[in-house]
Amino acid sequence: MQIKNNTPLPHGEYFRLCSSCGICTPECTVKPGIVPGVGSTATPQEIAKYLLSLEKNGDVHDSSDNSIPPSFICTACGMCDHVCPYYVPFLEKLMAAREWLQSLGTVNVPKNLLEMEGSITATGNPFGFAREKRDEWVREDFPALDRADVVFYPGCQTAYNFFRVETAIMKILKAAGISASLPGRSDQCCGRFLYFLGRSGMMKSAAMANVENVRKKGAKILLANCSSCYLAFKKDYPLMVGNLPFKVMHTTEYINELIGEGRLDLRRPLNKKIIYHDPCELGRIGGVLEAPREALRSLPGVELLEFDRNRGDGLCCGGGGLFEALDEKQAFAIGERLVKEAVTKGADIMAIACPTCNNVFAMARDNLKRKGELGGKLQIKDVAEIVLRCL
Ligand code: SF4
Ligand code: SF4
Repeated sequence: MQIKNNTPLPHGEYFRLCSSCGICTPECTVKPGIVPGVGSTATPQEIAKYLLSLEKNGDVHDSSDNSIPPSFICTACGMCDHVCPYYVPFLEKLMAAREWLQSLGTVNVPKNLLEMEGSITATGNPFGFAREKRDEWVREDFPALDRADVVFYPGCQTAYNFFRVETAIMKILKAAGISASLPGRSDQCCGRFLYFLGRSGMMKSAAMANVENVRKKGAKILLANCSSCYLAFKKDYPLMVGNLPFKVMHTTEYINELIGEGRLDLRRPLNKKIIYHDPCELGRIGGVLEAPREALRSLPGVELLEFDRNRGDGLCCGGGGLFEALDEKQAFAIGERLVKEAVTKGADIMAIACPTCNNVFAMARDNLKRKGELGGKLQIKDVAEIVLRCL
């Protein structure tokens, strides 16, 4: 489809800088052939070619049939940036290009993502769930406090779909004697979903509201357990609204500190082999690599295993960016490779530090089980759920 385009591709020089050396291609989470029989894959080179041809010829992918344009076939895993010998900051520039694509017309953006964007505006979360339900499962046990030293921001995925993890985290904080609060119903999507969509202006509004909610409780520490929410508070919000009046930590970092200070009585041995998965936005991009491992190693009766690819080189679950929302079948199929590796290595539990990874791996495991290809048992658990078992 041809469109009229009067504005140049922002930071086009970076896409032109790509020498097509192909080093990132086999590393890309959505590289061709990653899912047998699925051809709808792109790579940084393909995405760069697409954007440059759109700039030159106005030749745009038409998403009105809900097909995914190359500019959205990406899990935002950051592996291309990690391996590129020419230091092309691909991921950041792709997000700037998506802003540009939005300005050229919504035909570039898959329909279901536009619907989710509408849900965030209407309900504060991409799923379209009612705001009153945000703390429905936890408010009796953990009512939001007016003032608290620590605020735990669960984010949309945990608040609505993983409230068992939310409960585990609040129980651990209580056991350590921390004055902690949930935001209640007043928080909203962290906004990285909007950033991935090319709507950083909308993310800035979310940043202002979420920071104000934490600030008015007088909190010294903000905890996030979703790797996207963590990066939003840690990296994006200070750029958007200035320095934050509180420290930002991932829940695994804080729990590890509590264990180190001897504030948790870990008396029940687990007697399990645990393998830890590094979420891309927490590990490779966010730099939180050792704290989750140290926390798990401190638990009685735990043998910690590693994936062949781990820490900054760790492989993506398959669902990051907006990819799970776009093509969950493909995302779950990508997730199968690490579930298989975990079982092959003899792990009883795959430890997770992000609700998106949690969902993708649980679905991938169940799919393998249905196909008779799992080859063993595997629990998928958030680090906090594992720690709670020892209390
Ligand atoms: S590694 Fe860098 S230069 Fe090479 S193809 Fe990938 S983005 Fe382009
Ligand atoms: S961020 Fe990851 S999925 Fe996206 S193009 Fe780069 S390597 Fe591929």
